Amino acid sequence: MTIEDIDKEFFFHPFTQLREHQQHGPLTMVEGHGSTLTDTRGRTYLDAMAGLWCVNIGYGNTEMAETLRAQTERLPYYHTFASMGNEPVARLAQRLIAMAPGEMSKVFFGNSGSDANDTQVKLVWYYNNVLGRPEKKKIISRRRGYHGVTVMSGSLCGLPGMHAGFDLPLPMVHFVRAPHRLWEQQEGQSEEEFVRDLADELERLILAEGPETVAAFIAEPIQAAGGVIVPPASYFPAIQEVLRRYDVLLIADEVVCGFGRTGDTFGSEVFGVRPDLITVAKGITSAYVPLSACIVSAPVWDVIASGADKYGVFSHGYTYSAHPLAAAAAMTNLDIIERDGLMRQAKARGDHLAERLRAEFADHPLVGEVRGYGLLGAVEFVKSKDPLTAFDPALKMSAAVVQRARELGVISRALPASDSIAFSPPFVVTEDEIDEMAALARQALDDVARDLRL
Ligand code: PLP
Repeated sequence: MTIEDIDKEFFFHPFTQLREHQQHGPLTMVEGHGSTLTDTRGRTYLDAMAGLWCVNIGYGNTEMAETLRAQTERLPYYHTFASMGNEPVARLAQRLIAMAPGEMSKVFFGNSGSDANDTQVKLVWYYNNVLGRPEKKKIISRRRGYHGVTVMSGSLCGLPGMHAGFDLPLPMVHFVRAPHRLWEQQEGQSEEEFVRDLADELERLILAEGPETVAAFIAEPIQAAGGVIVPPASYFPAIQEVLRRYDVLLIADEVVCGFGRTGDTFGSEVFGVRPDLITVAKGITSAYVPLSACIVSAPVWDVIASGADKYGVFSHGYTYSAHPLAAAAAMTNLDIIERDGLMRQAKARGDHLAERLRAEFADHPLVGEVRGYGLLGAVEFVKSKDPLTAFDPALKMSAAVVQRARELGVISRALPASDSIAFSPPFVVTEDEIDEMAALARQALDDVARDLRL
């Protein structure tokens, strides 16, 4: 049996069209170096997505291998329940608090972005219960937002595909529009009016639900999976004014933006976000080992800590919370990023990526928008620019371009919520690699347009 046959027979793939998978089988990677992957047939690909927006230091880093070997020999595992501890995790928590924006106080560790966002909601509920306001529980999220797949994190997603078949979202989750200028900004509306419009929508929702029932608002600084939606500079300040007025906490989901993808340590710093709670995952270890964290501000921590009087033990955590291998990997990952100036490099390569994407796509008749920030980019396809008309989703335009690009040797990712393809390469990507990614993606679009007679 080939590895592809074994995969088809036994492996239940996440986020996969299961019937099609049975016909086509997997594309199985066996090796990676820098921004390049190799499959079982020896074909190589440029990974324009750093896996799933996460292998920021690139594949095959030997320092990470050495850290994992050394920590495995010293202490491969010990739990952190009931006041037990381990060394790497205490040091990592200290480092995260020093790095995080605002007045942050404590770090709670998990294993994925999904479980961390789920934990954030539990923290917010616990906080309001300690404060004696058990009715303040609703969470507001945004359309096009992506926050994970657990029952709560999946509910927080503003992507309809995330709910179909799963009886989600939970009823205490509500949505407002995303700051996606291409589709949401009315003709003739200034940026200021657009932002006002979005802040007013949020305020109307809070008032309609009753401010005494609304606990938190969750947002990615840049919405990644929803289409690499970059907010106007005045967006978060306006949103936060509303949240403060009604005593609604802000959870910044930094799972993609965190640790340098925008060129700064956190997306919150770039877009004026002042979070009460921060979610990180992915880039914290460059995905070498699963790890996530909820970073909790001092005022929220003080309330949660005082919950001991009311509830006794804080009964939440995982066997793998604060895993020493993951914490050691995170420390080495952050050492590498700092020592090698990889955040600065991400910004510089991001500028190059933006220039190449604009050069290849901006004037294309089937491209509605080229956008991005830092080392995050997207190209959105449209049927027509004037009048602005989307493709029929059944055409699966972005998926077709991604498929063709893969045949040409570049791995991008389709973001169907905005019919876009994404670019989020490792920070170590070279300018030549970026040139090739952009050129081959452009060729893929032209090939698909020709085949579909567009
Ligand atoms: N939040 C954001 C912004 C994400 O992009 C993701 C994953 O892509 C998640 C949360 C969920 O993280 P995980 O897949 O590790 O559960």
